[in-house]
Amino acid sequence: MINLTNGSDMVSHQDPVRDTRGRALHDLRISVTDRCNFRCTYCMPASIFGKDYEYLARDQLLSFEEITRVARAFVGLGVSKIRLTGGEPLLRKGIEDLIGMLAEIPGVDDLTVTTNASLLSRRAERLSAAGLDRVTVSLDSLDDEVFRRMNDVDFPVVDVLEGIEAAESVGLTPIKINCVVIRGVNDHTVVPMAEHFRESGHIVRFIEYMDVGTTNGWRLDDVVPAREIVSLIDTVHPVEPIEPNYVGEVANRYRYADGSGEFGVIASVTQPFCDNCSRVRLSAEGSIYTCLFASQGTDLRQDIRDGSSDAELTELVRGVWSGRTDAYSEHRSNVTFKKRKVEMSYIGG
Ligand code: SF4
Repeated sequence: MINLTNGSDMVSHQDPVRDTRGRALHDLRISVTDRCNFRCTYCMPASIFGKDYEYLARDQLLSFEEITRVARAFVGLGVSKIRLTGGEPLLRKGIEDLIGMLAEIPGVDDLTVTTNASLLSRRAERLSAAGLDRVTVSLDSLDDEVFRRMNDVDFPVVDVLEGIEAAESVGLTPIKINCVVIRGVNDHTVVPMAEHFRESGHIVRFIEYMDVGTTNGWRLDDVVPAREIVSLIDTVHPVEPIEPNYVGEVANRYRYADGSGEFGVIASVTQPFCDNCSRVRLSAEGSIYTCLFASQGTDLRQDIRDGSSDAELTELVRGVWSGRTDAYSEHRSNVTFKKRKVEMSYIGG
């Protein structure tokens, strides 16, 4: 019988465990489902993830108790920020219960969700009441036609904006908005996106299109470099770079010179940030991945279901992180992007 509740001795914050490059463990991203109700072309193209695609069966998914146990182990090794992802995490039934369990772990000081906001306007209040701190919303364009084409399920912009409003109204702030920029698809809508949120207090993060997984048909020519995105905005609204909030923050931050707010750019392709990468990912079926572009994960579910103790689980996780060498973006090439990589919809962004 696994003791799922008495993990208290494991949760004290020790010096964060470090990998082979001295990078401290800080962020745990937990994918709670491999399913999504969108088919964003750069993540889950409908041609691959169609109605016959075999998604994970219920019993293959970690239960909330199992997820919480793994999270405790990670927090004991230095994690203080937990992000719930998917697929679309709000599709996982009862996720508010999981949020409540994770919010109770001493040492978690930032509990957030990345969502496509399709369900947010109906759920924001319950998510906040469960203990969620804030949300990140994916919105690739304010141009309704462009956005519907990119999510490929004809989902309207207005419903996402309503979700953002609902999240703000219940205090799930600061709200970050992730916008993947693809040349010839939505790069012409970058400035309207920046302008719309400029004085809102919400922070748009423009993301360079990445060769995640192996199904999105990525080409380097379709990448709009971060400096070009910044220059598009700077031409209309002068901006200046500002310091990161913490070591390992993914986005390069810029503020508008007139003080009307800030935005970020995530430049994995042209300005790799592996040097301070503090992120680990847990898939919905219980494997940990030490890089977004990994080919292989380490299964924890078997150990959990075979009755491993909390201490054994912690040692397993410690071993994985301390042996980590990942730095995919530093070595990206015409060869590496073809290699088999885990799908982003499987481990979350
Ligand atoms: S490529 Fe991998 S190691 Fe580099 S920043 Fe991204 S997740 Fe971290």
